[in-house]
Amino acid sequence: MSQQADATSTCLFCRVAAGTVPATTVYRDDTTVAFRDINPQAPTHILVIPRCHIPHAAAAAGENVWQTFMSTATQIALGENLGERGYRLVINSGPAAGQSVDHLHVHVLGGRDMRWPPG
Ligand code: AMP
Ligand code: ZN
Repeated sequence: MSQQADATSTCLFCRVAAGTVPATTVYRDDTTVAFRDINPQAPTHILVIPRCHIPHAAAAAGENVWQTFMSTATQIALGENLGERGYRLVINSGPAAGQSVDHLHVHVLGGRDMRWPPG
């Protein structure tokens, strides 16, 4: 069995992308899926993932996933009417950053003022 097939059956976000774990999906196409975070940290909190299993951002260095993935995240933010007030795109990569699901994802956060630096 390939690594991809293993991830598809065991990875939470691969299963969300496949529709075998329920989620409130706001966008999907051939390469990308976006859904509302189950534990929102802002009035708008959406996760955008590539359908292909990439465990973290560091593993995607040099991959061609970024343009579609980040462009979709920005389009979703605009679609949620966050463009004028502003919003935050966050990618946690690895344990020190607090990544808890090992499938590349960007958080789209908006609808409240954000602090800097992040915790
Ligand atoms: P991170 O900590 O950056 O890996 O982000 C993982 C995010 O996934 C967290 O914000 C969780 O609340 C969210 N999450 C975990 N399980 C689910 C799920 N089944 N549906 C939607 N969001 C989830
Ligand atoms: Zn996965």
